[in-house]
Amino acid sequence: VDTNSSRLTIAIQKSGRLSKESMNLLQACGVKFSLHEARLLAHSSNQPIDLLRVRDDDIPGLVMDGVVDLGLVGENVLEEARLERVATKLPAEFKRLRALEFGACRLSIAVPKEDTYNGLSDLNGKRIATTYPYLLQDYLQRQGFSASTAVLTGSVEVAPRAGLADAVCDLVSTGATLEANGLVEQDVIFRSQAQLIQRPEALNSAKQALIEQLLPRLDGVQMARE
Ligand code: ATP
Ligand code: ZN
Repeated sequence: VDTNSSRLTIAIQKSGRLSKESMNLLQACGVKFSLHEARLLAHSSNQPIDLLRVRDDDIPGLVMDGVVDLGLVGENVLEEARLERVATKLPAEFKRLRALEFGACRLSIAVPKEDTYNGLSDLNGKRIATTYPYLLQDYLQRQGFSASTAVLTGSVEVAPRAGLADAVCDLVSTGATLEANGLVEQDVIFRSQAQLIQRPEALNSAKQALIEQLLPRLDGVQMARE
C-alpha cells in the first residue's frame, strides 16, 4: 500500500459482523467495487479508492501507523488497541471522523447464574476471562478494584464452566450467548458501535478532497436510515 499515492486506502473487516454493513455503507456512498473473495485488496471501479480487507483487530494499528488512510472498526477493538499501544509506547493517535450506525454491542461483566453478585467488589482478587484485558483493567482501576485476567481470543463464555475463571467480560448484543452458557450479565463496562477513523497525519490534497466528498454522502445515507 502506497499512502503517498492519490488513491485513498480504506481498511474494513474481511469477514465478520462488520463486513457486510461496511461494504454496504461504502457502496451507498457511491463507491463501487467487486470483491474477489480471496483478495486482500479490492480496487474501486469508479473512484480512486482501494479497500484493504483484514481482521478487525488489525484495523486500529494500520490506521495509527499510517499504513492505511481510513478504517471502519468497532469502538471496542479501537479503544482496546489504543490502550495497548499507549502501554507499549506505540503510535496511538487517530482522527475520529464519524460514529457509524451499525455494530452496536456492549462489553459486560457476567457471572455464573448460581453465584450471588452484589457488585464488582465480589470479583476483587478473582479471575475474569476476556478478549479485552486493557479495557477491563482500565475499568477495574477506575472503579478501584483489582482482578486478574485470563485472556482468550475466543470461547470466553465457557471459561467459568471450564474452571479457567470466576467471571467473564465479553461482548453482548442480545444476551443469548451468555444465557446459553449459564451466565448473567451484571455490569456494562463499555458501549460500542462501529467508527470511521482516519490516520493522524494530514493527507495529500487529492485524498482530502475525496474524503470531503465522501463524508456528506455518508451523513446523507445515515440520516436517511434513521
Ligand atoms: P475477525 O476475524 O475480523 O477478528 P472477530 O471474530 O474478532 O473477527 P466479529 O465477531 O466479526 O469479530 O465482531 C466484529 C465486531 O462486531 C466486534 O468487535 C464488535 O464491535 C461488533 N459486534 C456487534 N455485536 C456483537 C456481538 N454480539 N458479539 C461480538 N461482536 C459484536
Ligand atoms: Zn477480531
